[in-house]
Amino acid sequence: SAKEAGKARFKRFDQSMQDRVRQRLKVESNVLQALQRNEFTLHFQPVFDLRPDRSEQPVAVEVLLRWQHGEEVVAPAAFIPVLEESGEIIPVGYWVLEQACLQVRQWQASAPNLYCSVNLSGLQLQEPDFVERLRQILQKTAMPARKLVLEITESLLIDQAGSTLASLRELAAMGVKIALDDFGTGYCSLGYLNRFPLHVIKLDRSFLNEVHSNPKQQSLCRAIIGLSRSLGLKVVAEGIERQDQIELLLGEGCCLGQGFLLGRPMSGKALEQLLQGCLGAE
Ligand code: C2E
Ligand code: MG
Ligand code: MG
Ligand code: MG
Repeated sequence: SAKEAGKARFKRFDQSMQDRVRQRLKVESNVLQALQRNEFTLHFQPVFDLRPDRSEQPVAVEVLLRWQHGEEVVAPAAFIPVLEESGEIIPVGYWVLEQACLQVRQWQASAPNLYCSVNLSGLQLQEPDFVERLRQILQKTAMPARKLVLEITESLLIDQAGSTLASLRELAAMGVKIALDDFGTGYCSLGYLNRFPLHVIKLDRSFLNEVHSNPKQQSLCRAIIGLSRSLGLKVVAEGIERQDQIELLLGEGCCLGQGFLLGRPMSGKALEQLLQGCLGAE
């Protein structure tokens, strides 16, 4: 009967929902143990000077967290929120900072100007001893503070806890660079660009998507780049996938960028080979 069919359907639905909930719980409890189990790894995406007469060597690497879960490599969008909800992002965040500094410090032996750019969760900056712990990590790894870039998001500035601004100022005074990531996707008022000690704006890749076909998008790009430059901020374009985007960016005065066209996020080994290739060619 229709009623029985309905019941069966409901049961099936119910079952699949339970499976999904169970699956999610499994992911959650698993990712919370990933640090102890040594399942996190770092990938590195090179950032380049886009000007044609510049060296092929990357100016910076952005450090991107990966979770090696069995055979699967899980991207951060799937597990960072879980780490944040549970507070586990705090120890994981320190681990990322230390590993990133250790690794990039090694590369600086042959590429002394290489910057290390690390993504921060807002919760990390709210830790009262964040600055002190970072200072210890820099000391332990011998990473110069002025070669470290911390990437924060607009939401972090908007929801800032009382101590966030003080911490950012302290970091800037140490020489650490602060980058505003995914700029243009949040709801930051422009006044924030002056209120906080920022050094770099990372232009979100959504701006580059239609830039060749949509003149308004192009105007927006130009305005953001012009504004940032006039405030003395460096602009890094994210998500460069086509050559015409590079030409457009250079035309607007933005000469730093990263994206799949230039280099995908890669293992430390692969990035080392890239650096050796660059040095060999010089
Ligand atoms: P993000 O900081 O904006 O990083 C850039 C993301 O864009 C990376 O995704 C990268 O793989 C991707 N991407 C780079 N170039 C291109 C391109 O040309 N085209 C396209 N379609 N995508 C490109 P990923 O690695 O999945 O990271 C996602 C986000 O997770 C990051 O966005 C960052 O907000 C966060 N994240 C990554 N690592 C960490 C970490 O260690 N700590 C924290 N708190 N967040 C992290
Ligand atoms: Mg980033
Ligand atoms: Mg970004
Ligand atoms: Mg982005």
